[in-house]
Amino acid sequence: HPARPWNFSAGPAALAPEVLAQAQRELLDWRGTGVSVMEVSHRGRDFMAMAEETEQDLRALMGIPDSYTVLFLQGGATQHFAQLAMNLAGPEDRADYVVTGHWSQKAVQEAMPYVNARVAASTEADGFRSVPTQFEVDPQAAYLHFTPNETIHGTEFHHLPESGDVPLVADMSSDILSRPLDVSKFGMIYAGAQKNIGPSGLVLLIVRDDLLRRPGRPMADIFRYARHAERDSMLNTPNTWGWYLAGLTFQWIAAQGGLEAIGARNQAKADALYAAIDGSGGFYTNTIDPTARSRMNVPFRLHDEALDATFLQASAEAGLMALKGHRALGGMRASIYNAMPMQGVQALIDFMGDFARRHG
Ligand code: PMP
Repeated sequence: HPARPWNFSAGPAALAPEVLAQAQRELLDWRGTGVSVMEVSHRGRDFMAMAEETEQDLRALMGIPDSYTVLFLQGGATQHFAQLAMNLAGPEDRADYVVTGHWSQKAVQEAMPYVNARVAASTEADGFRSVPTQFEVDPQAAYLHFTPNETIHGTEFHHLPESGDVPLVADMSSDILSRPLDVSKFGMIYAGAQKNIGPSGLVLLIVRDDLLRRPGRPMADIFRYARHAERDSMLNTPNTWGWYLAGLTFQWIAAQGGLEAIGARNQAKADALYAAIDGSGGFYTNTIDPTARSRMNVPFRLHDEALDATFLQASAEAGLMALKGHRALGGMRASIYNAMPMQGVQALIDFMGDFARRHG
């Protein structure tokens, strides 16, 4: 499809064209059923088989140990900000949070009604331009929550916070599957699907089994992760379309060479884009601490804000879509998740160079 733009949307974000094409081919007749995947029972043989294959493919891609349960739930990452606190902490428990930007701030706010949440470290004082390296974790905390990649501020942890025996809980909505990961270092990983997995409306959770057995607080079954686990994420009707597209995406990642290859590609894309920004003689700037720059979300500013509207219009005309920065920060943001190839990043770099020459 030569007319498709390069899509730099932060989320919902670009999906691999191969995945979209396969979904299109299968839309009217999925696996010989004569209907689409959205029109069959989630408890039927075909869907159950697909669901199981999808989980196994994810386990193989990420090397998820057997002592972890994988859940395909709903509610967005935002609902799980609250729900994870209900499940992992009792009403009297404490939990620690690392705040490095908009989403980790939201995570702590939403957890407050359910746990004594404490901000163990925050980079707010430096405008969320870095990630904390050393801080004290409450050894009695039920968990330590952090956001490995801040989608809006454009910071990323390139090391794991040291939490001792306190389980690490990570909101990986915008960096899951972007490089190899040692899952055994985490108590729980969760991610909204709409960046590196598939459509919105699906949330992936990877939970260490001993955490699933925590009593949490009194709550309805529908909120309890252990109940969802007992029923293989089919306690109620799952997001069947999202689950299916996640499965296609996992197969696509494997076909790209798995997380090693994807990770190398993502690093090369980010390196090229940051080099173009840093090498622009101040025409473009990114002020994030270089050791904490995100490989997924690259915010940048033009030296003169008055050029922003022209930049956005010209970039859209050049087939570069959705470069407008988040309203909280202004400027530009290029989100370059797994589905964005180097070719798209190069098209952006070339455009930025041309634009700077024309307006410098
Ligand atoms: N966490 C992060 C890191 C995000 O990027 C987002 C969405 N952009 C969310 C949480 C919220 O996700 P949702 O809208 O699916 O609740």
